[in-house]
Amino acid sequence: MPEDWSRALAVVAHPDDLEYGCAAAIAAWTDAGREVTYVLATRGEAGIDTLEPEKCGPLREQEQRASAAVVGVDTVEFLGHKDGVIEYGTALRRDIAAAIRRHRPELVITLNHRDTWGGVHWNTPDHVAVGRATLDAASDAGNRWIFPELVEQGLEPWNGVKWVAVAGSVQPTHAVDATPGLERSVRSLLEHRTYIEVLTSEDPETYCRTFLTGNAQAVAERFGGKPAVAFELFSR
Ligand SMILES: [Zn+2]
Repeated sequence: MPEDWSRALAVVAHPDDLEYGCAAAIAAWTDAGREVTYVLATRGEAGIDTLEPEKCGPLREQEQRASAAVVGVDTVEFLGHKDGVIEYGTALRRDIAAAIRRHRPELVITLNHRDTWGGVHWNTPDHVAVGRATLDAASDAGNRWIFPELVEQGLEPWNGVKWVAVAGSVQPTHAVDATPGLERSVRSLLEHRTYIEVLTSEDPETYCRTFLTGNAQAVAERFGGKPAVAFELFSR
């Protein structure tokens, strides 16, 4: 992965997307003194069958903030789109472009925007919408004539995004050593306790460790034998 950057902005659809996807890499980056900010399109309020959205949203927001803190991320913003029915379009691109202009990152991170996770594992429409809109917004953020209302709000164009790194891609091109951040990535995922306890009957910690270790190991084969977090890197 490129190392010549100081600020990253991670933009995903739901609480837990980054924890399932790439928190070990984020821990390593914040250790190195880099600033990472999270932006979530939704509060994940439709994620738990037994919990009404009005109760679920605030709870998952709280868990996401705790989860981010474990890997050294202090700023977590929510765009307030509706969980499960995020619409790809100019409203979403504008919200993400505004976040990019506010935070002025060199690296933007998002989650798999393709139709599947590989093979016949279908992706969700929210991930596809947010991933695609984030790739688009990296350019939108730099153009003063796209979304001129943002300039009126004091958000000057930011043309400094050099890369968009897509976690969970079926076509990874780059990787970060997962070893230094792996234990914290387990703790970070574990903060989504309400969600995980509904998801699995397994002990939550065992579940998180097995999942994240397995993922890092699966990537190792392609990246020099080291457990890793893989990204598909789009240069700009
Ligand atoms: Zn998700």
